[in-house]
Amino acid sequence: MPRFRSILDTMPAYKPGKAVISPEGRSFKLSSNESPYEPLPSVVESITRAAVEINRYPDPGSVKLTGALAERYGVPYDHVALGAGSVAVAQQLLETVGEPGAEVLYAWRSFEAYPLLVSLAGAVAVEVPLRDETHDLDAMADAVTPETRLIFVCNPNNPTGTVNRTAELGRFLDRVPENVLVVLDEAYREYVRDEDVPDGLTFYRDRPNVAVLRTFSKAYGLAGLRVGYLIGHAPVAAAVRKTMMPFAVNHLAQVAAVASLQAEAELLERVETVVKERTRVREALLSQGWTVPPTEANFVWMRLGERTMEFAELCAGSGVAVRPFAGEGARVSIGDPESNDTFLAAAEAFKN
Ligand code: PMP
Repeated sequence: MPRFRSILDTMPAYKPGKAVISPEGRSFKLSSNESPYEPLPSVVESITRAAVEINRYPDPGSVKLTGALAERYGVPYDHVALGAGSVAVAQQLLETVGEPGAEVLYAWRSFEAYPLLVSLAGAVAVEVPLRDETHDLDAMADAVTPETRLIFVCNPNNPTGTVNRTAELGRFLDRVPENVLVVLDEAYREYVRDEDVPDGLTFYRDRPNVAVLRTFSKAYGLAGLRVGYLIGHAPVAAAVRKTMMPFAVNHLAQVAAVASLQAEAELLERVETVVKERTRVREALLSQGWTVPPTEANFVWMRLGERTMEFAELCAGSGVAVRPFAGEGARVSIGDPESNDTFLAAAEAFKN
């Protein structure tokens, strides 16, 4: 019997959002916060053209994409680091700090990959409970110890959709020692409409220990291609590049991401439509009598407690896949109007 690391005995496997099919053959996948839109024709065209080049390895340094991101955000080239999805960038980050005794701090509940990746990196996870479904930044700052190496702040938070605003984040960052890296995970940044929610880049600019994590998977609609990035000061970005698996970001992903930046205006129009649907869905849920925290992301959070799995099953009966966290609640992505209407009908049926 091969011997594995003991952490594998206790670490659960990552559970991806599933699709379900109703008895009538209908399927609405609202379980992974994906874009409901098909890729733009211009993006498909660029991938199609690049397909004939895949006998070659991808550009290991992703020079074009890195340059395009640096230009897009007005940051130096050496402040950008890539990975095969922002979850891979998070793993690369943890590889840069993970060693026995190193502590990694994050709010809980938050992005479900954090605890898995922290354990896998051999570090100690320190979870600080949410307060009112939101990061409790005071408690998080209180939880910093001399062993703390990295803090994730997920803003907006997955799965609650809640946010932390500029003043409180500034106060929090002032309290974090300069030798602790703070990673602002902004996977849902493009959906934020509250003007008091900071663009993490404004904090990164004058703080060498702050970095921003972003992705092409959500607003840019490239979840299937796997590309995410970090913007941080040169030593941080360099460390994250070192811990990337060689050639992790594949050729088609690089090409599609560059094409998506070129088509950004069109993509952000789609985001606007999702934001409008988000408002409609939340208001409909509120009028059905649900408690739904205000959300700045492309999903809503329903704290269902013990009824969570029952709710998910009822939704599945209508072909709607939601993301249940047993005993806690369900996260439901905002999809196209038909998916959202089907979900709202299921939610109403559950209420009755
Ligand atoms: N961060 C957060 C907060 C997320 O919700 C997700 C996706 N569920 C990710 C990172 C990772 O996304 P990806 O790897 O597709 O970039």
